[in-house]
Amino acid sequence: MKDSILVINCGSSSLKFAILANAGKTTLVEGIADRLGSSESSITFKYDGQKNVIALNDGSHKNAVSQIKLWLENHTSIQASLVGIGHRVVHGGEAFTKSVLINQDVINGITDCAKFAPLHNPAHAKGIEVAFELFEGLPQVAVFDTAFHQTLEPEQYLYPIPMSFYRDHHFRKYGFHGTSYRYISQRLAQISIGSDQQGVLVAHLGNGASTCAISHGKSTDTSMGITPLEGLMMGTRSGSIDPSLISFISQAENITADEALDILSKKSGLLGVSEISNDCRTLEEAMMSGDQRAKLALDMFASRTAKHLASVATSLESIDHLVFTGGIGENSSYLRQAICNNLTALNINIDSTLNENAPRGAEQNITATNSKTTVWVIPTNEELMIALDTISLIQH
Ligand code: ADP
Repeated sequence: MKDSILVINCGSSSLKFAILANAGKTTLVEGIADRLGSSESSITFKYDGQKNVIALNDGSHKNAVSQIKLWLENHTSIQASLVGIGHRVVHGGEAFTKSVLINQDVINGITDCAKFAPLHNPAHAKGIEVAFELFEGLPQVAVFDTAFHQTLEPEQYLYPIPMSFYRDHHFRKYGFHGTSYRYISQRLAQISIGSDQQGVLVAHLGNGASTCAISHGKSTDTSMGITPLEGLMMGTRSGSIDPSLISFISQAENITADEALDILSKKSGLLGVSEISNDCRTLEEAMMSGDQRAKLALDMFASRTAKHLASVATSLESIDHLVFTGGIGENSSYLRQAICNNLTALNINIDSTLNENAPRGAEQNITATNSKTTVWVIPTNEELMIALDTISLIQH
C-alpha cells in the first residue's frame, strides 16, 4: 500500500529516522546518523532484525539523507510506498499552533524561532532543505514540540517580568515534549474508556524531562519554559533554580552569564549532583552497590518531579490520571515509586508489586487500591504522531 512516511528528527550532530507504514503502526526501517560534523560519523540502519552501519565520508547532514535515499533505491517496494516526510521540530514559537505542510514561509518561520532553540531549529531547517533537495516532489510536514502547549492561558504562559518583554520579544513559556503529551492523552483516552479525562497529569521523564497537565485533551500547564531548561532536574540540566545563581556562578568562576548557563544545561542535574553520570540506569546500579551520591541525585530527581507534578496540577479541577512515560518513566520502577512517595498528600498511591513487575515497553495500570488517581505507565510514540499528522496533512 502507498502509505509509508519517512519520519526525520534532525539534530545538530545526529539525525534519527524511521519509515512507518500501515497508518504509522508498522516500523519498516529505523536508524540514526551519529556524530555528524565530525570525521567519525556513521549511519546505522535497523531493518529486518539486522543492524547495518555505514561510514559517512564527509559527516554532513546531506550525506546522511543521501544514504537513506540510496538505501531506499535498494529497497524498491518501500521506496514506492513512500508518500511523505514528517519532521520533528523543537520550537514553533507562537507562529505554529499545530503541524503544517512545509513551504518556504514555514522554513523561514522555523528559522525565526532559532533564537529560542539555537542548537535545534537551524538543524531542523537544514534537514528540511536537504530532504526537499533529495526527495523532490514528496510533500513534507513539520510537527512542533511546542504546538500542543499553545492552549495555555496567559496566566500560565507569561513570566512575571515587565510586559514589554513579551510584547516586544515574545519571551514567555512555550513548553516542550508536546508531541509525546498529545500521544499519551489520545492513548489514555483509548485505554481508559469511560473514565474521566478532565484532569490528566503526565511525567515525560527521559534525558530531558517535563510534566504536563491536560484537561479534555488540551494542555493547561507544563513545567518547561521559553527553553527546555526550566522545570524538572534532568540528566544534565538543573531545571528551575533561583535566577540569581547565574550571577553568583559567573562571579565565582570568572565566566560570562552564557558560560554559567552552559553549566546549568550540560553539567548539572543528575550528572552534576551524582558526579558519576547523567544516565538513570548507571545511577541505579551505583545506588544498589551503596553509592550515596547516586541515591541523593535520584532522590532529588524524584522530589523535584513530584513538586512539578503538583505545580501543574493547580491548573486542573481534579487529578483523574497520572501517566509515566519517557525512558525513565517507562523503565525505572525505583523512581516511579519515589516520585509517588512524594505525592501521598495528593492521595496518589501506586501498588508496589504492580509497579515493580510492570513489563518493559508495555502499558500498565499500577494504581494502589487506596489511590484517588489512576496511575499508568504508557510508552510514548512520537514517531507515530508525526506519521499520522503527515498522512492527514498530505491528504488534504
Ligand atoms: P531522551 O529521548 O530524552 O534522550 P529517553 O527517553 O531515551 O531520553 O530516556 C533516557 C533515560 O532513560 C536515561 O537516563 C536512561 O538511563 C533511562 N532508562 C532507560 N532504560 C532504563 C531502565 N531499564 N532503568 C532505568 N532507567 C532507564
